[in-house]
Amino acid sequence: MDNIQEVVNLQREFFQSNATKEIEFRIAQLRKLESLLRENEDALHEAIYKDFKKSVFENYTTEISLLYHDIKEAIKNVSKWSKKKRVRTNLANLPARSYIIPEPLGVSLIIGAWNYPYQLSLAPAIAAIAAGNTVVLKPSELPINTSNAMAKLINENFNPNFFKVVEGGVPETTALLNQKFDKIFFTGSIGVGKIVYQAAAKNLTPVTLELGGKSPAIITENCDLKITVKRLIWGKFLNAGQTCIAPDYVVVHRSIKDQFLEMAKKEIEQSKFLVEEDNYVQIINDANVERLISLIDADKVYTGGKYNTETRIIEPTILTDITFDHEVMQDEIFGPVLPVIEYDDLDAIIAKIKERPKPLACYVFTKDSEAKQKVLDQISFGGGAVNDTVMHIANSNLGFGGVGDSGIGAYHGEHGFRAFSHYKGILDKATWIEPELKYYPHTKSKLKWIKRLIG
Ligand code: NAD
Repeated sequence: MDNIQEVVNLQREFFQSNATKEIEFRIAQLRKLESLLRENEDALHEAIYKDFKKSVFENYTTEISLLYHDIKEAIKNVSKWSKKKRVRTNLANLPARSYIIPEPLGVSLIIGAWNYPYQLSLAPAIAAIAAGNTVVLKPSELPINTSNAMAKLINENFNPNFFKVVEGGVPETTALLNQKFDKIFFTGSIGVGKIVYQAAAKNLTPVTLELGGKSPAIITENCDLKITVKRLIWGKFLNAGQTCIAPDYVVVHRSIKDQFLEMAKKEIEQSKFLVEEDNYVQIINDANVERLISLIDADKVYTGGKYNTETRIIEPTILTDITFDHEVMQDEIFGPVLPVIEYDDLDAIIAKIKERPKPLACYVFTKDSEAKQKVLDQISFGGGAVNDTVMHIANSNLGFGGVGDSGIGAYHGEHGFRAFSHYKGILDKATWIEPELKYYPHTKSKLKWIKRLIG
């Protein structure tokens, strides 16, 4: 294991040298990261294919291209984002100027999850670098080849006092969490999120927690069913359902439930998930295969339900006639199993969803603007989409993050820059005048004037 304390101490020393504060330095590091990604794209594709058969198509569209986008956006805007911003000065402080200076937090720790291993490790690192921090990155150990590939790429090319990958699982992460960082950015499960939050609290370290949850998709009776089914099936079975913002379950109006199920089954067939080669991702490991199989209630299978434990493949599966107390509705599914619940009354189903922890995402498929507004106004969730799934993550202007049990904070684009920055408020006073009003001795006439001036 690396000497973790030394890694952090050296990064702190480097940060204190102010080198990372130069905008040119940040841009140069981001450019270097982009070149390294481009030069090594094939190796990155190979590694993730070995880990869980993620194809070049999926790896490029759902991971690498998002990194290029984030880098490009950061390079273009970092000067603007870092500029001090003038704000109004209040009467009591005149004459003066007031402004807010964004400053990097310092030495940051980024802990990644396995399901989009490149994106979930490197996108926060891009934000941290843009904001002028140093980075210790701990990718998930489950996709070991992608973890190795990132360690090689970063550790052979960056100054470790600035950007270093530390590989490992629980012992290494625990050792990291015993250090004092200036920012911890964690992506993963709610349970581990609580461990990270507690460790951060010991040092009053600010956190971003990107967690999970059961994200609902609500389908009302007057939606465009064809497009609904297409976008829903894509979002659910992308990465074999191992997506934090995948629709976890569907609630569909009773009047269109049968039609929805038939069309969903057809859409699965047309997607040829298991017919075409490299068109469907493996489950990450045996433990998750076992967990998912246990959720497939044979009596409830509408389509799919078969699996192969050797190849770690589980068919896209739809379960029907599910109720909220069914086992599959207890925890985040995080796999290719889609429970379908039917409803009659939108208000009642919204109330039912609100009884549960706040999800990371929520989707509503409808042409009814009143129904749409009800869902958006009444259910609290991280972010989401109307008449689509998953794609809100591709718009960095929206920011991406959870609320309540699904997380704290947001990132991508300027939201990411903010997550790794402190905004220092400065009152910059003129010296050519100094009214006596606030100074001792405090007299009645001074108070009268103060009341007259500031109310
Ligand atoms: P996880 O919590 O098991 O692991 C995440 C990271 O924490 C890994 O790097 C792992 O090494 C480390 N870790 C695991 N156990 C630890 C412990 N006891 N102490 C310290 N560190 C520990 O999560 P996962 O299985 O990698 O990812 C799946 C979860 O992540 C799902 O709940 C999913 O919804 C969520 N997720 C959220 C987002 C998001 O952006 N909000 C993205 C992807 C995944």
